Amino acid sequence: MIKVIHLRQKCIGCNACVEASPEHWVMSGNDGKSHLKKSEQKGNYFILSLPDWEYDEQAQAAKNCPVNIIQVNR
Ligand code: SF4
Repeated sequence: MIKVIHLRQKCIGCNACVEASPEHWVMSGNDGKSHLKKSEQKGNYFILSLPDWEYDEQAQAAKNCPVNIIQVNR
């Protein structure tokens, strides 16, 4: 399993994560920040576990994020 971690409060709403992985990321209509679908909030972080084969797509989302607030661990 991999773990995707999003420091949502620092999101600038650029949409790059959604472009990399529309299945797991969506822009919020409420505050214009992205949301990691089905993630669990822990403090300021939103965390989602995914199977190993999802790594490349999430790593791409992390790489594309201009403010480096997406982390992918495996
Ligand atoms: S790529 Fe980063 S800054 Fe841009 S919407 Fe996604 S989390 Fe927010």
